[in-house]
Amino acid sequence: MPDGTPPTRTLKTARALQAAGLLPETAVPGAEAVAQRYSISVTPAVAALIDPADPADPIARQYLPDPAELVTAPHELADPTADAPFTPVKGVVHRYPDRALLKPLLACPVYCRFCFRREAVGPDGGLLTEAELEAALAWFARTPEVREAILTGGDPLMLSPRRLGEILRRLAALPQIEILRVHSRVPVAAPGLVTEALAAALATDKPLYLCVHANHAREFTAEAMAALDRLTRAGVVLLGQSVLLRGVNDSADALEALFRAMLRARVKPYYLHQLDPAPGTARFAVPVAEGRALLRVLRGRVTGLAWPTYVQERPAGGGKVPLGPEYSPNEG
Ligand SMILES: *Cc1c(COP(=O)(O)O)cnc(C)c1O
Ligand code: SF4
Repeated sequence: MPDGTPPTRTLKTARALQAAGLLPETAVPGAEAVAQRYSISVTPAVAALIDPADPADPIARQYLPDPAELVTAPHELADPTADAPFTPVKGVVHRYPDRALLKPLLACPVYCRFCFRREAVGPDGGLLTEAELEAALAWFARTPEVREAILTGGDPLMLSPRRLGEILRRLAALPQIEILRVHSRVPVAAPGLVTEALAAALATDKPLYLCVHANHAREFTAEAMAALDRLTRAGVVLLGQSVLLRGVNDSADALEALFRAMLRARVKPYYLHQLDPAPGTARFAVPVAEGRALLRVLRGRVTGLAWPTYVQERPAGGGKVPLGPEYSPNEG
């Protein structure tokens, strides 16, 4: 920051990032071109984590727009996970027999530059209307094989506690629903939103698993830890999901620090995702062979509790597959 004080408001334009000292003046035109196509949002919590003096800062890299985003590589796809063909009603994605996604909104606290839904997410898109939400809930009610409702988006914790609580209560009331899951970046990106009221909204009479998206150990600040603690005390079970990202966590040391930080926050690492080929994300790509080699280094070195499953989405909606690394009992 030029004056040394972190911003108190969320930064949503290239100019605001520059004024806060996070982007040099020379980078503003390129960032403005990116902003024509993709949303920008850097919360005060995230801005405070960025070291503007470090050109390789792993937090900045996740959130600050880069002109490389406007270059689509030949293998990149607008809908890399192919949600569209698996959408029985607006806001629902049903790809696996026993579980389905509900996307009540497409807004997020921050907009990650590598997001696989980057063509869809944004501040003013995708909030289901009352009628659309009713239709989505009716789909769950008449689909008895779906035992798990997974709220994602966008970020469901951007909803008001009252509205989120109402959706969860309605889903939990269905006899076939055994567990609820929420995927969110809010606890690390906007921990102030995790109020006691929000934690109370997540406490339903069915088990609720909250999968926290975090990619770097530094994201587990004191405020994030306090937010996660409020959730744990409300009975929420915390899981972690991360994306393997060039320049953010592509070393054994960075991954070890990330998974250890999760465990200290009572977050069990669940998935490490191979980057999905969304448009303009090539600068984050780490080859699968390299990801496997990094995980091999961690085997034996860190507690087994720290181990996520390394997964990749197959093309054309084929679903997730584990990527190993594979071991044989005789291997050294
Ligand atoms: C990832 C995903 C899920 C959840 O899969 P798990 O392996 O249970 O975490 C469910 N539905 C869709 C469409 C998904 O992409
Ligand atoms: S919080 Fe999740 S959905 Fe939102 S931009 Fe980041 S990766 Fe995408």
